[in-house]
Amino acid sequence: MPKSKKKKKEIDVIIVGGGIAGCVLAFHLANARLKVKVFEKQSRNEIEHDWCDSIEKKAFSYSGIPAPKGEERKRDRDHLAVLSPNLESIIHLSHYDYWIVDRKLFLERLVKSAEKAGAEFLFETEIIEPMGRGQWVVGVKKKDGSIENAQLVVDCSGKARILSSNIEVLDLNIKIEKEDLARAHRESHEVSEGVIDLQTHPIEKDILYYRYGYEKGYSWLNFEEDNILDVGAGVGKGYSDRSAKAIVNDFVNSKGNISNEMLRGGGRDIIIRRPTTMVWYGFLAVGEAACQVIPSNGCGVGSAMIAAKIAAEVVVDSLRRKEVSIDSLWEYQVQFMKERGRDNAALDMMRRQFLAFSEEDFSFLIKKGILTKSDFENLIHAKYARIGPLKMVIAFFKGISKIRLMLKVGKAISMSNRIYNHYRKMPKKYHTRRYLEWMLGQMHLFAKLEEK
Ligand SMILES: Cc1cc2nc3c(=O)[nH]c(=O)nc-3n(C[C@H](O)[C@H](O)[C@H](O)COP(=O)(O)OP(=O)(O)OC[C@H]3O[C@@H](n4cnc5c(N)ncnc54)[C@H](O)[C@@H]3O)c2cc1C
Repeated sequence: MPKSKKKKKEIDVIIVGGGIAGCVLAFHLANARLKVKVFEKQSRNEIEHDWCDSIEKKAFSYSGIPAPKGEERKRDRDHLAVLSPNLESIIHLSHYDYWIVDRKLFLERLVKSAEKAGAEFLFETEIIEPMGRGQWVVGVKKKDGSIENAQLVVDCSGKARILSSNIEVLDLNIKIEKEDLARAHRESHEVSEGVIDLQTHPIEKDILYYRYGYEKGYSWLNFEEDNILDVGAGVGKGYSDRSAKAIVNDFVNSKGNISNEMLRGGGRDIIIRRPTTMVWYGFLAVGEAACQVIPSNGCGVGSAMIAAKIAAEVVVDSLRRKEVSIDSLWEYQVQFMKERGRDNAALDMMRRQFLAFSEEDFSFLIKKGILTKSDFENLIHAKYARIGPLKMVIAFFKGISKIRLMLKVGKAISMSNRIYNHYRKMPKKYHTRRYLEWMLGQMHLFAKLEEK
């Protein structure tokens, strides 16, 4: 083989984005002795998310990343309580399988682990587009105009979707609509003496509180430490009259014993739609870049870790076989859809329809036990439990005084069941015509939402 050709193959995998997805993937690929380069546009110290996140416990065991401990892990939650928008009803869930994790410390650990395994991180290096040869993605272009090539290129750039949005095939470059976005904002503040309450509900320190259906989204309260309260909100972008930040600030200002000074926090838009296509020739997308965030609670860290682990296994196997075509990488998409994608798709369908419900409707559904404890347990843990006809009939009778609302609920359930079943039928092998037909079927089901 001529020398120049050998040089081109020097990097096995380029990863764009050194967030959760990028780091977990880099860690596993480097451990498998692949040569990995991670391009991250921010500086090492500036990486986003200076706050604490709820991260699924399962994601750690699944992805082979040691569980958080010490300073990284905040107060453990006893369980989660769901409040109705009007605050009249409260449902205590049996479990909440998440840890509260210092996101900055966690990411620092992930970067160090990936570096120790042999991955090379290039901070303050912004990528502007993928480089192609025929239908193959073969490299990336940096902001300074220089180009880097690799056998495989992975988009882990989060909401920016910097590579996917520039690959004009299948739905990789799909336009992210306002219905696909939520605006999330969270702040931690010091609390002095006294109780914090939400009307008649005193906030207990070992419980995380979610007010679901509030302002076309949900808001939360969580004591990270004895005297540090995390106040947050996520609202359907363009659907709520108030911004997520305003909801947080209004709450903080309404309580005399919460300091006005924000200790940590911030916010941005999150993509909360069903997953897009995640693979192409010489290309993968992982994490929020592939729209893998749980649509019903805006949590995307766990999905990014799970997807990165699945992707790593498929990539290692594909590179060993020197076969990085879509046919070989397809297994990643199949496995992710099975593990999480089809649940996310059904939860997205449910969420999209619930956006049309008023706060009064939501409060009614919770009060009447139509939205139950197990429904909330499922949607918070990214599980869509298909709802059968018997449960639908029981629910209908519980809500008989609001027939129009119950008809809408019936439609939401039936459409969510349909999209779940549709995702189960996604082709297990890549075949352009069959996959396009499947994609059109999926789009058609979502388009039905616009029909009156
Ligand atoms: C206020 C708020 C609260 C949240 N709370 C939770 C929570 O409690 N639990 C949870 O699971 N999730 C939460 N999320 C969502 C979660 O943060 C995301 O789903 C998660 O960060 C997605 O991980 P990722 O690795 O895919 O993307 P990101 O973490 O966004 O990482 C992408 C990386 O790519 C880099 N990048 C972007 N463009 C380029 C480029 N052109 N060149 C090079 N690098 C680039 C970025 O700088 C970034 O470091 C929250 C989000 C917000 C905004």
